[in-house]
Amino acid sequence: MTKLRLAIAGFGKIATTRHVPAIAASPDVELVAIADPRATAPDVPNFPSLEQLLKQGPAIDAVTLCTPPQVRSAQALIALEAGKHVMLEKPPGATVSEIAPLVSAAKAAKKTLFATWHSRCAPAVEPARKLLADRKIKSVTIIWKEDVRVWHPGQVWIFAAGGFGVFDPGINALSILTRILPYQVFVTRAELGFPANREAPIVVEMEMRDAAGLPIKVEFDFRQTGPQTWDIRIETDRGPLVLSGGGAKMSDGGNGLVDAMKEEYPALYRQFVELAARGECDVDLAPLQIVADAFLLGSRRNVEAFEF
Ligand code: NAP
Repeated sequence: MTKLRLAIAGFGKIATTRHVPAIAASPDVELVAIADPRATAPDVPNFPSLEQLLKQGPAIDAVTLCTPPQVRSAQALIALEAGKHVMLEKPPGATVSEIAPLVSAAKAAKKTLFATWHSRCAPAVEPARKLLADRKIKSVTIIWKEDVRVWHPGQVWIFAAGGFGVFDPGINALSILTRILPYQVFVTRAELGFPANREAPIVVEMEMRDAAGLPIKVEFDFRQTGPQTWDIRIETDRGPLVLSGGGAKMSDGGNGLVDAMKEEYPALYRQFVELAARGECDVDLAPLQIVADAFLLGSRRNVEAFEF
């Protein structure tokens, strides 16, 4: 099998720490160029923009977009129109409605559009989904609290409009939730706390439910120092199922069943290669829709100004 020749646009934290090692470990993908206004990569040609890469760069089959979400859909469109398969980092875009034209463009070009949710590749996610399939679920509590200064140092885009604020990590929890629950869920209440000097929330409290009234409580906070919390607790008729560490661990009725560190990104590249071979799209917008609905329905309060 010939390797998928890949370019990365947006060569920041996630591209360098997760995508580059995952590509290096993949027998079916090779990195042949990058586009970033300032960052550079050794060993491959560098371009200041995706447009220049597509015009002047080496031949490529696919593009992974690791840019901030505000610029992603325009880049996806030019890549698809240039006949390239496209992998999107999460969240797939800054809005829900910008994705449909991308799916149309992918189908017209017979190319793959893959909206990734890396947290769904965490080791506890599929075991949890299987266990929950035939249980009565009584309630869900999500606590997702991390220190933005540690995980997103100096990333001004994250608190700009369209940057998602604390929904940037929070959408990972929602991507797990929407994968493991056997029912669709929706937002019923949200309170979004915006730093007085920023355009995106730093703290969110939210309630959701399913059609049968399953209560789901959510707390996201980007101001957490000390221990970090990425937990989903599901009360069931056979005791509590708890996913912790962002899906790295799972206990069922107090018994630890999963406790593994697993790289999530190699699985995404395996899926991307398979999708590209079939020319198929994989675009699930459920987590993004929940975030959009929280912005639609949520009340807003100002909290203390934030500086990195
Ligand atoms: P980042 O470190 O700020 O990297 C983004 C890179 O894109 C920067 O180098 C930025 O350059 C560049 N860029 C901006 N506009 C561009 C354009 N038009 N063309 C090409 N490059 C451009 O952000 P990140 O943490 O890697 O996050 C990127 C995406 O990955 C986000 O959607 C995030 O949710 C997702 N993600 C991040 C993490 C994480 O732990 N950080 C984990 C999973 C997923 P400048 O800095 O010069 O603007």
